[in-house]
Amino acid sequence: MPKICPRCNYSNSDDRFTCINCGENLNSAPFNQNSVNSFLNTNFPGLEEVHNPPPELKGWNWGAFALTFFWGIANQTYWALLCLVPYVGIVASIYYGIYGNAWAWKSGRFRTPQECMECQKIWNKWGLVLFIVGIGLSFVFSIIFCLVYLFLMSKTLS
Ligand SMILES: [Zn+2]
Repeated sequence: MPKICPRCNYSNSDDRFTCINCGENLNSAPFNQNSVNSFLNTNFPGLEEVHNPPPELKGWNWGAFALTFFWGIANQTYWALLCLVPYVGIVASIYYGIYGNAWAWKSGRFRTPQECMECQKIWNKWGLVLFIVGIGLSFVFSIIFCLVYLFLMSKTLS
């Protein structure tokens, strides 16, 4: 079976360790970045485009991060529903925080990237509000919890 070079696609004889055409290491091929990229591009067309979006679409999306589930449905980005899976969820939320704008654009509902960002602005605003309120509430609740705990401790000690 010939070894296909992951970098230049040259077909090498299977006794070669490096590509005769470009010198790429053929044995480490399954683990190197080139083959990961070419696997992603072959199996998930458009992914590279999403990860290298036009400059208008760059930037953190608070809505996609903090409201991943609702954002995913509204923006027809259904992989975002992975946010419901324990542990994987936080990774999914951070991922869509980073690439959310480009994914929303990829859904094809907008005529221009500017129009897409106009819509994402609203998500961004409410995502940030929710995030701050969430942090604030968990802070307040942990203080209340500590006070109640201290109060009960002092009761049992006296
Ligand atoms: Zn090669």
